[in-house]
Amino acid sequence: MASHKLCMIPGPIEFHEDVLQAMATPATSHVAPNFIPVLGESIELLRQILFTSGQPFIIAGSGTLGWDMTASNLVEAGEDVLVCNSGYFGDRFGECLETYGAKVTHLRVPIGEAPKLDDVAAALKTKKFKAITITHVDTSTGVLADIKGIANVVRKESPETLVVVDGVCSVGSEEIRMDAWGIDVVITASQKALGAPPGLCVMGVSERAIGVFKNRKTPVPNYYANWNRWLPIMNAYEARKPSYFATPAVQNIFALNVSLKQIVAQGIEKRFAVHKEASAKAKKFIHDLGLKLVPTSLEHAANGMSAVYYPEGVAATDLLPKLAAHGIVAAGGLHVEIAPKYFRIGHMGISVTEPERGHLDATLNALKASLAECGYKGAL
Ligand code: PMP
Repeated sequence: MASHKLCMIPGPIEFHEDVLQAMATPATSHVAPNFIPVLGESIELLRQILFTSGQPFIIAGSGTLGWDMTASNLVEAGEDVLVCNSGYFGDRFGECLETYGAKVTHLRVPIGEAPKLDDVAAALKTKKFKAITITHVDTSTGVLADIKGIANVVRKESPETLVVVDGVCSVGSEEIRMDAWGIDVVITASQKALGAPPGLCVMGVSERAIGVFKNRKTPVPNYYANWNRWLPIMNAYEARKPSYFATPAVQNIFALNVSLKQIVAQGIEKRFAVHKEASAKAKKFIHDLGLKLVPTSLEHAANGMSAVYYPEGVAATDLLPKLAAHGIVAAGGLHVEIAPKYFRIGHMGISVTEPERGHLDATLNALKASLAECGYKGAL
């Protein structure tokens, strides 16, 4: 791979040489006999990774397309949706839902907090919600929501409400068990912990949600995102048959397939554990430097990323260029209310599952050195 600064942001992440190699597949028809089984197998692998018997979708686009798919296929205009909002991505998902006519109620938490189960239960009592959305890891705050606990509350309080998880920053780095936990939709994208380049929207949809979709009363108010068009395509590829609605991103799917096979071969349970260990190491290092995390407790801090406040006297304009000079690309703040006050580091995928690459150590050492160069004395 060409030498480059390490991309240690919360996605896109560093990907494996074999994944990069797969992007170099020569021009291939989307109905070629060497492509059909690759998409078919990727759909099957996703069922294993998401622990679901439901319907995976792999469609050219990004994570945002998953919001459009959910909002236009599962919700009808005028229906209520409860958005568990722990940051920037809750606001944006809410906007997307409203675009298709949903009536959105935001259950907002203070910055750095995670949604509380009692508050979710109370909100569910106020009206009948067609769906509840939860940002599993809000990439703007690094907060990890308790999707298992929330799904359990939904089952008790409002069993018909569809449980939708925005897992763009969590699938592949955080534990998710769709069927066992009663989750109806998981949305993600190729460029985060699934370990492939950007370009694909990836979803898992429960059989129950597909049933709700099939029974909708009004037409789907979308052309490209319409599951009536995509379901036959996903089914055909899985049956290893050619089919066409809109051209799949052939090379991206070759690359995703390599990464999904690596994830399954390595063991999904092990992957969860490795991300937890790496995150604990990163967060201890950050704490020992005297810095404070945006999440208010380690109990609800994501395992695939860390959002960290700058110490007194250090600003984004100081630290990020210094990190880059050490060969590390980190991200600035995103949550509008605190954006200039914090930065974000990703620790997902091969950067943690293959520690011999030294990505995390290089990042943490560069952080320490860069802070010193910024004049920070703190606990260095
Ligand atoms: N949800 C979350 C939690 C995200 O982190 C992101 C991207 N950072 C998105 C949705 C949108 O995904 P994309 O940028 O791939 O469209």
